[in-house]
Amino acid sequence: MKILHVVGARPNFVKAAPVMRAMRGRARQTLVHTGQHYEAGMSAVFFDQLDLPQPDAALDVGPASPTVQTGRMLLGLDPLFGRFRPDACVVYGDVTSTLAGALAAAQHGVRLVHVEAGLRSGDRTMPEERNRIVTDHLADLLFTPSPDADGNLAREGVPAERIHCVGNVMIDTLARLLPRTDTGAVLERLGIPSGTRYVLATLHRPATVDGGGVFVDVLAVLAEISTRVPVVFPVHPRSRARLAAALSSAPALHLTEPLGYLDFVSLERGAALVVTDSGGVQEETTWLGVPCITVRDTTERPVTVREGTNTVVGRDPERLRSAVGSLLAGDRRRAAGRPALWDGRAAERIAGVLAEA
Ligand code: UDP
Repeated sequence: MKILHVVGARPNFVKAAPVMRAMRGRARQTLVHTGQHYEAGMSAVFFDQLDLPQPDAALDVGPASPTVQTGRMLLGLDPLFGRFRPDACVVYGDVTSTLAGALAAAQHGVRLVHVEAGLRSGDRTMPEERNRIVTDHLADLLFTPSPDADGNLAREGVPAERIHCVGNVMIDTLARLLPRTDTGAVLERLGIPSGTRYVLATLHRPATVDGGGVFVDVLAVLAEISTRVPVVFPVHPRSRARLAAALSSAPALHLTEPLGYLDFVSLERGAALVVTDSGGVQEETTWLGVPCITVRDTTERPVTVREGTNTVVGRDPERLRSAVGSLLAGDRRRAAGRPALWDGRAAERIAGVLAEA
């Protein structure tokens, strides 16, 4: 069997790595990197740390609007389907590269496999939600991380025989690499004494960082928190542009470049709490048992709220301030445990199904 994997953005790398490992020796695998994320800190470092093979083809789409990027990806992908003649195309998550890979596979009549299928925020103003819906409805095989995703797909009429609940591949990577993390070493590099309580923050979604006042409000709360405990904020390229203007009055924040996977997870596991709008970070904190505050109105990962450590506070700075305040005061919600099948073996289950397909 010949499999074409399409990746392009940071969360894709974290998800594709375990699937490619699990399929080693069981299929001829080709990896295409669309270039959606291209800076070394958002791309190359993940290939190194996650043992991803170098891409067989790089589309280098470069920075542009999602519409233009999708167009460029389709132009780049089109000849690759002729060149590699895959039996299946695997796409991951909900980014622009996921959508482009799905459309190209469908146009070429190649079996489409979606890893992390079925998640829904219910908010179609999010580009990620639109990407998920289109990809899921084009897919022949859908691998879901949790039963709520199966329910969403069933409600949308996706035939049950296409859906396999396999667990969370992002947790496969986390479980495998956790022993290589070193919280103290990363804190030392940031000038924060080991053992200090600190908050970790990541913000990158268009609705948070492009939408005017919200970003400024959230940053103001982070700046306030940083007068009590250090706040580490690795800045996503999308947020960087808006940051200079908003942060002139917050010198106590530790702003860094986007961190490599091992450094980021090192900080995540040791944090007193994490403030985020990321999808993957909601899942990782649940698995790590670290309190997470999500500054979004919705989550497509309800299992992290029901069973995990996640609290969705919306984009109201008052709710964020009060949630952070009570967590720092010691009111730590006890997680019910780790969601079923988030056991580091999701990719093995995927490989098992693919081998039969
Ligand atoms: N991550 C990282 N460095 C950072 C921020 C995040 O390695 O500075 C990792 C994080 O551990 C997770 C993934 O990137 O595995 C999440 O990606 P992102 O938040 O960009 O995307 P989303 O999950 O929201 O789709």
